[in-house]
Amino acid sequence: SYDFDATKRKCDIGNYYYGQGHPMKPHRIRMTHNLLLNYGLYRKMEIYRPHKATAEEMTKYHSDDYIKFLRSIRPDNMSEFSNALFEDCPVFDGLFEFCQLSAGGSAAGSVKLNRQQTDIAVNWAGGLHHAKKSEASGFCYVNDIVLAILELLKYHQRVLYIDIDIHHGDGVEEAFYTTDRVMTVSFHKYGEYFPGTGDLRDIGAGKGKYYAVNFPLRDGIDDESYEQIFKPVMAKVMEMYQPSAVVLQCGADSLSGDRLGCFNLTIRGHAKCVEYMKSFNLPLLMLGGGGYTIRNVARCWTYETAVALDTDIPDELPYNDYFEYFGPDFKLHISPSNMTNQNTQEYMDKIKQRLFENLRMLPHAPGVQMQAIPEDAVPDDTVDDDTEDPDKRLSIRSTDKRIACDEEFSDSEDEGEGGRRNVANHKKGAKRLRVDEDKKEGEDKKKIKEEEKTKDSSVEKTDSKSVKTEQTSSA
Ligand SMILES: [Zn+2]
Repeated sequence: SYDFDATKRKCDIGNYYYGQGHPMKPHRIRMTHNLLLNYGLYRKMEIYRPHKATAEEMTKYHSDDYIKFLRSIRPDNMSEFSNALFEDCPVFDGLFEFCQLSAGGSAAGSVKLNRQQTDIAVNWAGGLHHAKKSEASGFCYVNDIVLAILELLKYHQRVLYIDIDIHHGDGVEEAFYTTDRVMTVSFHKYGEYFPGTGDLRDIGAGKGKYYAVNFPLRDGIDDESYEQIFKPVMAKVMEMYQPSAVVLQCGADSLSGDRLGCFNLTIRGHAKCVEYMKSFNLPLLMLGGGGYTIRNVARCWTYETAVALDTDIPDELPYNDYFEYFGPDFKLHISPSNMTNQNTQEYMDKIKQRLFENLRMLPHAPGVQMQAIPEDAVPDDTVDDDTEDPDKRLSIRSTDKRIACDEEFSDSEDEGEGGRRNVANHKKGAKRLRVDEDKKEGEDKKKIKEEEKTKDSSVEKTDSKSVKTEQTSSA
């Protein structure tokens, strides 16, 4: 789901232009879209044109002043503003609209997942992981990922964020650093490399226990080495954290031959991460991110869309609007280069070991009691909201096929008023769990709900402010 008009067969996000010579090219999203259309993948998916995120939606994370600034600044009035964006983040025509489309797509993906209208939501125009609360950074202005995760947190007790971009996912880590409701895991190049953060450090020791894992890598990592760390680390994370939703940032600058990158992954190696995370059968939000050799970005995200759809697509590229970009071979897959893999077995084993030690020191599945779920637990659709436990939903999902569930219970007469609670409540905007309320065990949830009913729409904003406040104190 990204900015695409299915009837006009166009993809507006590709029209935005960072400027001459700038490596970030929104055109790559249009190329991706066109390629996956020509592979016929649209037949197996639903394509939505999400709304443009409003300034108000953006301020659920970003500061009011910053969004106001983004809204007002244009190439022709730049000189009137004293606070300039960073060098890498130029002011271009339609900048704010570009941010609205990117953020709107990711937030809409979360909503689709929350409503259980899809198993996997994709926004290749999202994944802009460097944007900060009040600051543009690394080609990113508005952090669509943080906004999407805030949306997921309305329905999910714990959300896992994974970042396979070559750069550290610093903006997302910073936003959720002090909450245990979001765990961030980033695999990235570390050492004299943008943004400079993301070294391995102790996260489970002492007073503060941070659910933020970083795997610092060196140049030239190949498919084999990457898989060797990604799978065991993620298996351990899934086991100890037990999220009920997963967000995967699929930055393609970790591919071999990237204009700004220095890794040596092929598209198959990169997509193994998608395949693996998909195998957990949790609601999955897939986002784009970096990627500066744009023909390979289009190849990668097209292939990963196919992986998400469980569909094999031929290596021979179909004819498409940008066919000439893919010469001379016109193939989908790429070969690794002969660059040296500086990540020795010894180095990776050492990091992996320390990381596992860290994970052991963190409380497992924080925020809820670890207990066996009664076998006769009623499926989520029939559970009354007042007693609904998000983790019961998780267990139901992992043991039942959701589609079967929906079918099976759609005729049920004891759904009570409202029927599909999640859907109905979402529309009314009634269910707005607060971060801290959610953490309390044995809380009188009925009371919470009544309180919520009396609150106006500012509840949601208050909610995110509390996240923001936490974040400020951690900086
Ligand atoms: Zn990147």
